[in-house]
Amino acid sequence: MESVMVAAGELSYPVLIGNQALELLDKVLADGGTVPEKILLITDDTVHRLYGKQVKERLEKISPVAMFAVQSGEEAKSFEQYYAILTYALEKGLDRKSMIAALGGGVVGDLAGFAAATFMRGIPFIQIPTTLLAHDSAVGGKTAINHPKGKNMIGAFYQPKAVFFDPQFLESLPAEEMRSGMAEVIKHAMIADASFLSWLQKDLSAVVNPNADQLATMIKEGIKIKAGIVSQDEKETGVRAYLNFGHTLGHAIEAALGYGRITHGDAVAAGMLFASWLSEKELNADLSAGELKDWFKEIGFPVAVPEELSSEELMNFMLSDKKTASGKVNMVLLKEIGTPVIHSYLPERLQDLLEEFRKE
Ligand code: NAD
Ligand code: MG
Repeated sequence: MESVMVAAGELSYPVLIGNQALELLDKVLADGGTVPEKILLITDDTVHRLYGKQVKERLEKISPVAMFAVQSGEEAKSFEQYYAILTYALEKGLDRKSMIAALGGGVVGDLAGFAAATFMRGIPFIQIPTTLLAHDSAVGGKTAINHPKGKNMIGAFYQPKAVFFDPQFLESLPAEEMRSGMAEVIKHAMIADASFLSWLQKDLSAVVNPNADQLATMIKEGIKIKAGIVSQDEKETGVRAYLNFGHTLGHAIEAALGYGRITHGDAVAAGMLFASWLSEKELNADLSAGELKDWFKEIGFPVAVPEELSSEELMNFMLSDKKTASGKVNMVLLKEIGTPVIHSYLPERLQDLLEEFRKE
């Protein structure tokens, strides 16, 4: 069993990683002074079918459990589902002595977290992640739902009491979802830890088809890196921007194709290749961007920006990204593996560079 403490302002909470993580539930809740009188377990259809019964039974050893399963997929991060959860919580008589538990990937974590943040002005919340990507989404305290006008437009910073991450849940994860989460693992390595990156690059099978031990290592190292960065910058005013490595172009690809047409990780992988290429070109960084591209190809990431998207169109999406400072586009580049820097570009210049990258 591995444990990483995440510091968040005055508070801190444990992330437990291992096959017995949920066995520690009672102790962790008691230590944290949260023994709920009722639990609302929020999950999605797919995860419900796979692990709903088992986790519900585990939670019932603590207190009575009501369960709410949303449809799988990003659409569940909607105002309607959020409202339905609150209605259900009221009908079931939840109050401030109750707790919400999120069982699922980033969608369920973000939705359940936002419900917990706002139900009766905030009730205790735990996360039980079931995707690799959730090593990212379960740490950092961001919770949100989407608005038709934009992703994650309604939300709150709200920390869980604890995160229980059992890598065995990931055995049923489809390959493309695993790869999507892997892109964030690789991102965390690239922005903060050269030796972790070497470890990842050493054994292709660990990345393409990881076993539970390898997953536990990736989850732990990825979470340590993310936790280290967000604890320095809880509300996203400074170094947290480094987590955006690969995301400026990645988000633009996702948005331009239409959400759901490409996984987040695949889009970010292409974005990381562009950012690495730029780092070599502009900062003389030695990132072996060519080798990186070959490695990404072996993993199964798309290594080129989808041809049907024009660079101009992508540029417009990059400019409308909510993290864009007025008129310029901020890119996270690397001076070397583990040393990110922010570089601002005039849109025309960045578009030219993107064009050049795509021709290589
Ligand atoms: P997801 O929660 O939709 O899960 C992906 C798919 O896998 C779903 O269809 C789900 O039903 C299925 N699934 C989940 N666990 C499974 C399992 N163990 N076995 C088989 N199938 C399983 O998506 P995700 O990639 O985990 O998360 C993406 C979401 O996370 C996005 O909404 C994104 O905005 C959010 N996110 C949030 C943060 C944050 O800081 N809060 C960070 C990154 C991403
Ligand atoms: Mg991301």
